[in-house]
Amino acid sequence: MEAPITAPTAGHNASPDLRSWLQQLVATDRLAVARDGVSLIDEVAAVSKKLELEQAVLFPKPGGHHIPVVANLFADRSWIADSLQVPTDQLLARFQHAVRHPLPWVEVTTAPVQEIVHREVDLLRQLPIPKHNEHDSGPYITAALLIARNPNTGIQNVSIHRCQVSGPDRIGVLLLPRHTKHYFRMAEEAGEALEIALVIGVHPACILASQAIAALDCDEMEIAGALLGQAVDMVKCRTNRVRVPAHAEIVIEGRILPKIREPEGPFGEFPQYYGPRADREVIQVDAITHRRHPIFHTIVGGGVEHLLLGAIPREATLLDHLQRSFPSVRDVRLTRGGTCRYHLAVKIEKASAGEPKNIIMGAFGGHYDLKQVVVVDMDVDIDDPHEIEWAIATRFQADRDLIVVSGAQGSKLDPSSADGVSAKMGIDATKPLATEPMEFKRIHVKGVEDVDLAHQLRDDPAAAFLRTVTG
Ligand code: MN
Repeated sequence: MEAPITAPTAGHNASPDLRSWLQQLVATDRLAVARDGVSLIDEVAAVSKKLELEQAVLFPKPGGHHIPVVANLFADRSWIADSLQVPTDQLLARFQHAVRHPLPWVEVTTAPVQEIVHREVDLLRQLPIPKHNEHDSGPYITAALLIARNPNTGIQNVSIHRCQVSGPDRIGVLLLPRHTKHYFRMAEEAGEALEIALVIGVHPACILASQAIAALDCDEMEIAGALLGQAVDMVKCRTNRVRVPAHAEIVIEGRILPKIREPEGPFGEFPQYYGPRADREVIQVDAITHRRHPIFHTIVGGGVEHLLLGAIPREATLLDHLQRSFPSVRDVRLTRGGTCRYHLAVKIEKASAGEPKNIIMGAFGGHYDLKQVVVVDMDVDIDDPHEIEWAIATRFQADRDLIVVSGAQGSKLDPSSADGVSAKMGIDATKPLATEPMEFKRIHVKGVEDVDLAHQLRDDPAAAFLRTVTG
């Protein structure tokens, strides 16, 4: 690999950053490099989408811009496990541990991310911001950590929001009713703007941590530190009091303006539909800082990277929530077909009759997005949709094992809901505790695990062999 992927800037500790993850991808042949000139409008997203299950992609000069774009940092949950240096089957446990044992960040006074400072801002000229899905309203910043300060306490919150470029120094932002919105309401009621920063290009641990379902006033950057096993270096912004990761690639400093709403959207979202256009909050940009040779990370809305990043932290939270009441729960998955949000598979070591239904009800209490819960036994691979369907096909009877709840809170982004009012469906696909020995005995070919094909198969072509038989 040639530049721009280089070692961390001399004079700073080798902190885990976006570059260290890209180096790891290069070393394992998982980073493709595009030709110069791929357009920022649609084409960067199209190439990324095409490769989303296989490789990360670096675009050296997208649309002729001098800053490269990278996409597809994760094509599979095993990549996320790699980035945290744990085996895939320990990924959720690692995340649970980090949430329980946060590691405070440390403040530093000089930072690679402030090597270049722009006080005059022109977003589309200074940054390579792509347009992603076909009917998006235009270019969007999709992979930025939005860091906001509690206006009263200074405690920081980290989250990701879709950010529409609305003007040279103006960004339209969607704030769902969570922590950033809470801080913004506090500021707005006092007639003030909310100080924020958008941080682009960080180590995967920081992105994952931002998606933790944590309590208000839990600083997600402390979860990132715990995931990394070392405190994150943070530096004060140049135009406000927000602290940002010193080893990020790019920071956009700004304020969410009080009493101002402007049109934002449509934008292609995780349910594979467009989130609608409406009047939303506005960020006034005050400065852009970045490394001397920065890299811009983008996430294609609704793509695999987007879905996986949302899934892992939510799974860890739901697993925690369920295991508190149900020790028989072993693992959970937010399945891809269920947009990694709406459908949950739960694997249990069944101990009591009826317990799966309690687990289903517990899961629905764990997150309002959940719409369908399937409970399966230990022998079912919950990473394989065919296995889950097989369990439903052979261990489930709808008149006996189905729970339906109508009129509950669901996801507003589910177009089949009535503005977020949604039905819930629970499926107990576990087999009974006591069964006849052969009744639920899964078939198995003896020795299939031990077959060595190099030993059992001939080298010569099948055609030659077929001639000797058929003449
Ligand atoms: Mn939070």
